[in-house]
Amino acid sequence: MGLPSGRELREVAHVVALPLATRFRGIDVREAVLLRGPSGWSEFAPFTEYEDAEAATWLAAAIDYGWGAEPDLVRDVIPVNATLPAVEPAQVAEVLDRFGATRTVKVKVAQAGQTLADDVARVRAVRERLGPAGRIRVDANGGWNVDEAEHAAHALAPFDLEYLEQPCASVPELAELRDRLRDWQLPIAADESVRKAADPLAVVAAGAADLLVVKAAPLGGIAASLRIVAASGLPTVVSSALDTSVGLAMGARLAAALPDLDYDCGLGTAALLAADVTPHPLLPREGRIPVDRVDADPDLLSRWVATTERRDWWLARLDRCADLLHDHPAG
Ligand SMILES: [Mg+2]
Repeated sequence: MGLPSGRELREVAHVVALPLATRFRGIDVREAVLLRGPSGWSEFAPFTEYEDAEAATWLAAAIDYGWGAEPDLVRDVIPVNATLPAVEPAQVAEVLDRFGATRTVKVKVAQAGQTLADDVARVRAVRERLGPAGRIRVDANGGWNVDEAEHAAHALAPFDLEYLEQPCASVPELAELRDRLRDWQLPIAADESVRKAADPLAVVAAGAADLLVVKAAPLGGIAASLRIVAASGLPTVVSSALDTSVGLAMGARLAAALPDLDYDCGLGTAALLAADVTPHPLLPREGRIPVDRVDADPDLLSRWVATTERRDWWLARLDRCADLLHDHPAG
């Protein structure tokens, strides 16, 4: 695969600003660059606060998906979970309704400015809605220290969690927590410790996780992600980063290429967007999404085009990241 230059990328780039249905990650609007590559539409949407070195890995993934070869696929639908931001219990039904009938919900916890009581109330509301057969996982985004995480695990035990995602920020903390919870049968999933680490497999080597959350964009693409999963030897949940349906389709392709897929994937988040770049968003139906490339629609790209100022900001970032990739082709 010849790496497209920054100029070539700009020529096929469309910058959009999509409103969210629910405030998430502290944002109300999701900005993304849609890229029309020879293999199909692709997406470059690292969060705005990320430095160029990290964002360049997201660009490697976008190029892999839009310009690279197709992986071999072993399934054509992907079971997905609903994703619940750190909302009030009274909002739980309204948010989850957007995902349709899903058996699994990922609940955001440990939000700055909230308490464990808020988390317990939110998880309780989800359990009441799902009933005993539903699966609930919580994601702390590294917001707890080890003691807080252990305390939270006790407080949330009555709600029968599927796993605890990134309860603490660092690998040593995860390892200690996993040790403390060893008799609990409460698995620990690593997310930031995979996608934001210099070595995504360090968390595995440290024995600090029972499963991995894997996202194609921050890991440099589908092929790179498949190599990491294979080397880890751990079960995997494929997830996304509030992508448009074009980016979610890349995640679905990664999930479809994995030899084993034991958990529902975090690829249902089109439901959190109030607008998308396709008239056929990858919304979960009966808890699944299909594995198909998604094309961006010209009318919707125009409808949701970013302001000139934001467009210039993204195209300059695209350029800088392309330069970084050309200087360091391994990404
Ligand atoms: Mg996470």
